[in-house]
Amino acid sequence: MAKLLEGKEVADKIKQELKASVPGLKNPPVLASILVGDNPSAVAYVKTQAKTAASLGIVYKLHQFPTISEEQLIDFVLKLNDDPSVNGIILQVPLPKEIDYMTVCEFILPHKDIEGMHPTNIGKVLFGRARIAACTANAVIELLNSTGVDLYGKEVVVVGHSEIVGKPLAMLLLEKFATVTICHIATSQAGKLKEHVQRAEILIVAVGHPGLIKGEWVRPGAIVVDVGMNHVENDRIVGDVEFDAAKERAAYITPVPGGVGPITVAILMRNLVEAAKEQQS
Ligand code: NAP
Repeated sequence: MAKLLEGKEVADKIKQELKASVPGLKNPPVLASILVGDNPSAVAYVKTQAKTAASLGIVYKLHQFPTISEEQLIDFVLKLNDDPSVNGIILQVPLPKEIDYMTVCEFILPHKDIEGMHPTNIGKVLFGRARIAACTANAVIELLNSTGVDLYGKEVVVVGHSEIVGKPLAMLLLEKFATVTICHIATSQAGKLKEHVQRAEILIVAVGHPGLIKGEWVRPGAIVVDVGMNHVENDRIVGDVEFDAAKERAAYITPVPGGVGPITVAILMRNLVEAAKEQQS
């Protein structure tokens, strides 16, 4: 039976460190959050961010737009860039279809991009010089570190190759000399997902498809990190891995919710505090 790999402990440790360092800054850090529309996942994430920020002495300024054009949104980002009181900017996703995330993200000043999604920050991850790495990818690394596992030479399979999670995570894992396989839609379509998952000493899944990974595919003794967050019937949130069956085989497994999510928010705040320190010095 697997040990539960809960994010709370890791997140609490990061937050304790922030609580100690925020009062030492010249001014409380200011996070500008942009929300377009009312997507329920984005609204829920904004609430969590605001609550976490308040608990850490961080000023959370929510800028909410029921609708806005891409051009207008870029203009707004430029204003936030020019505002010296704003230390970090976060663009909530998903955005409406007519707005391209990366197009807007490229206008955020790299040192105010606390999500680590600006091409400059992504490029630094590639060169092993990450100043700010994508929050969720970084959260997975923190969670793996908390198990004490040595990633050197480990067979790691990442399912999902999004710019936000899978791709930056693969880079961070390579940095630690893991042997990384990235699976995606074509892996599934080729009928090869199961064979890759079965070899994984460490399995990380970030797809958004409940039950995609069958419990019986999990290698005995594996570490399973389920990033997926899927809203299903009866207001439940589940991951991408069949939890009950997988926990019988894995050594460690994340609960959903309660695994990666809490750490992602803590890392977002840590990135903000680091950005504020840099800007205020
Ligand atoms: P995304 O941008 O939609 O990416 C999903 C990835 O899964 C894509 O690379 C996609 O490949 C791949 N995929 C789709 N169907 C597949 C299949 N049948 N087999 C294998 N791969 C498949 O999503 P995301 O933003 O990375 O998020 C993924 C999940 O993580 C979501 O449930 C999201 O809610 C969750 N999430 C959680 C956190 C957290 O902090 N806990 C943070 C971010 C995201 P193609 O693009 O080639 O189709």
